[in-house]
Amino acid sequence: MPDSTAHRIQLLQGDITKVKADAIVNAANSSLLGGGGVDGAIHRAGGPAILENCRKIVARQGGCKTGEAVITTGGRLPAQYVIHTVGPVWNGGHKNEPALLANCYRNCLALAQEHGLKTIAFPNISTGIYGYPKDKAAAVAVQTVLHYLAQHDVPEQVTFVVFDPENLRLYEEQLAHLKS
Ligand code: ADP
Repeated sequence: MPDSTAHRIQLLQGDITKVKADAIVNAANSSLLGGGGVDGAIHRAGGPAILENCRKIVARQGGCKTGEAVITTGGRLPAQYVIHTVGPVWNGGHKNEPALLANCYRNCLALAQEHGLKTIAFPNISTGIYGYPKDKAAAVAVQTVLHYLAQHDVPEQVTFVVFDPENLRLYEEQLAHLKS
């Protein structure tokens, strides 16, 4: 792993709706029609244009499957785009959850790359209402993103936006040894 790869990853604690990246990622549900947690916050802050775009996607392809991703406008957000992905619901770890969570991160990065986006910010997908253990989710997130960045020049910068102190500690742990 080249040292420069780890330096393309940033950690930030706070509200992802305030982050000025080319795209922020939404931990959506498969209906794409809004929900609680970070999904609710993004739709509230970004305004109705995001939901309008989501409705068009639903009409075209009928929602979004677990592990997949779709892109909409960022509406009134500082971010230009929102990439919506559907994380797995934690079911004890025997329902392919790690592979599905890794698909979320990879498919968001690939979609960002397709659209020529240089910067993308991720929330901690599945670690809220979907109940994925935070330590396990942080390991999947960091390993998957690092692996992708090592193989692709774009996106140039990835930010993990942590909301709660436990995720902050877990991501600090994951990232500390990479940059030392
Ligand atoms: P999921 O259904 O995928 O678990 P949630 O929205 O319930 O999605 O939670 C995902 C993560 O997003 C949780 O770690 C939660 O603390 C975090 N979160 C909630 N609101 C925000 C926000 N405004 N900015 C960044 N992260 C947030």
